[in-house]
Amino acid sequence: MVPDLPALVDEIATTMQAMEDRGQVASYIPELAKVDPAQFGIAIATADGRLLVGGDADTGFSIQSISKVFALTLALGKVGDQLWDRVGREPSGNAFNSIVQLEQEQGIPRNPFINAGAIVVSDVNLGGHQPRVAIGEMLRFVRYLAGDDAIAINEEVAASETATGFRNMALANYMRAFGNVRHPVDLVLGSYFHQCAIEMNCRQLALAGRYLMLDGRHPDGGRVVSPGRARRINALMLTCGHYDASGDFAFRVGIPGKSGVGGGILAIVPGRASIAVWSPGLNENGNSQLGTQALELLARRTGWSVFSPPDAR
Ligand code: GLU
Repeated sequence: MVPDLPALVDEIATTMQAMEDRGQVASYIPELAKVDPAQFGIAIATADGRLLVGGDADTGFSIQSISKVFALTLALGKVGDQLWDRVGREPSGNAFNSIVQLEQEQGIPRNPFINAGAIVVSDVNLGGHQPRVAIGEMLRFVRYLAGDDAIAINEEVAASETATGFRNMALANYMRAFGNVRHPVDLVLGSYFHQCAIEMNCRQLALAGRYLMLDGRHPDGGRVVSPGRARRINALMLTCGHYDASGDFAFRVGIPGKSGVGGGILAIVPGRASIAVWSPGLNENGNSQLGTQALELLARRTGWSVFSPPDAR
């Protein structure tokens, strides 16, 4: 099936812009609570080099937990499979910021996409440096992936989360007690909060995700990660990318995706497309309400799914 993608992107943007029930904007980070929920953007970067955009695809938003995909990629580059001694690879079945499981599992977070796991990944990426070094590295990496040097950190969002991120401080301190956070907690969280505060628009995010649809290759020909590593990152996005609604997202959409509380979702159709959707209102599981619906519609109309035979997509 070869869908008329430009027409479909327009249709999805128009449909989503007309929706009345848009979910609730995240309020636990005060700066995010100020974002107007009446926005929706979509961008699709295809394996054959096209970029299709619709709605508010050029409006920047806080990528929040989507940054965990890029941070994981960097950490695997630094320590390889040793990372898995400190972070698991199982869906958590708990809220993204849950502390309960950590006690039962002796400070080893379930996966790198819940907050506790991402904080360990930030600890790895710090590697004995000051946060500004790690943050600079992350920013350079994301700019390289997207081919866009305009990508920047929203300092107000970072400051807002630094001032109110008490749960994350608890998670980090708790893991430090188990020896699974090795740098001072304020440095690790400084790095983590800034990484989450990277601002991108749908266009930039879809471009940044291309290596995951291209088996680890950057479209300029360079290799970002090995094919095996790209597949594993996609596997983690599918199984753990939507907090405790990851199973539901796999059921409804059927492709790897990582969401953030800023309302963005990065979704990957291996060999086909890197997709970014954004709408700030979240559903009860903390995932973008319209973003999820848009991806569901896109997957249904294109037949894109990691569960269908390649010729059906
Ligand atoms: N910075 C957010 C937090 O740590 C990220 C959460 C998310 O996007 O899921 O609470």
